[in-house]
Parts: sequence; C-alpha cells; structure tokens
Amino acid sequence: MCHCKFCQRATGSAYLVEPVFEASDFALTRGKPKQYIHVSEGSGKEVHIHFCDNCGTKLFLTFERFADVVGVYGGTFDDPNWLEIGPENSKHIFLGVAQKGTVIPPHVNTFIEHATESDGTPITPTVFDRPHIIGTK
Ligand SMILES: [Zn+2]
Repeated sequence: MCHCKFCQRATGSAYLVEPVFEASDFALTRGKPKQYIHVSEGSGKEVHIHFCDNCGTKLFLTFERFADVVGVYGGTFDDPNWLEIGPENSKHIFLGVAQKGTVIPPHVNTFIEHATESDGTPITPTVFDRPHIIGTK
C-alpha cells in the first residue's frame, strides 16, 4: 500500500493498493496500454504509468529503479480479492505523507518513506500493535 502523493493523485484517493509481481510473472494478454512517464521527485528515476487510452483507467506501473518488477493498480483486477493480503506479504509505505484519518492495520510493516535505501539496504519497519490512525499518536 503506497501512501505517497504521487499515488494519492494517481488514484484520486488516500493510497494505492499495489500488488507487486516479478516482471517474469506478469504478461499483458490483450490490448496495448498507453504509457505516461513520470520522473520521481524523490529518486529522479522514471516511473512508467500504463493506462487504457480508451477509458483512462491506470493499469500497471513499471519502474526505472526496479526494472524486474511490475506494480498493478489493485482495483483493476476482475476480482480485486483474488489474492490474500496480510502482514506476511504486504507493507504500507510513505506514511510520512499519508492522509489524516487513514487507518493503518496492526502487525504490518510500515515505513515513513520507502522500505529500502536507494542502494537497496532494508530500512527497519515500524509495526503497530493495534490499528493506527494517521494524524494521531
Ligand atoms: Zn506511491
């Protein structure tokens, strides 16, 4: 779950539910999405937003910085609940700019910004033991 400003704007919402897959596990089976290139304010690297040029729906993201993965706009799956999302396979990032009132579930790794340094070094997560509401202590 990404709470960064870019994802807030991209979704028009509080955060992006973004299942991330190995690029080798991802295939486009139909159509040819258009691409918008956004340069990340943080890293200066390109983020490619793939979207439907008919209806405007954003479908998935590819990254200059993380070339071996694809991030999917989770709400676009035919069944957005097809994959189990829990503390063992998810995290919340960019809590530092998350919208006030957003509820962060307990027992899940959270990060103020990214989960790793730009060189890939893991950052120690914060884990709340009960639901955490952004904007409260
Ligand atoms: Zn984001």
